[in-house]
Amino acid sequence: MPLEAIVKKAQKLMRSRRIERIGDGVYNVIGDHGTYTVVERMDGSVLCNCPGFARNRICSHSLAVMLLRGKARRV
Ligand SMILES: [Zn+2]
Repeated sequence: MPLEAIVKKAQKLMRSRRIERIGDGVYNVIGDHGTYTVVERMDGSVLCNCPGFARNRICSHSLAVMLLRGKARRV
């Protein structure tokens, strides 16, 4: 998936409030194909347990959390 599409999806996830904080730096993101867990690490980077993140080290879920936390201002 091109980065532009990932960004659009992340913005949609954020706007439709599909991100649920379930703990300290831990979020459930309800994606189109399932609910994934996004973890925010101490250094500010985020990890997601979806297959897309495993492949590309970026996905709409992790990006949505970054947008929510205001850590992806350039996107
Ligand atoms: Zn993901």
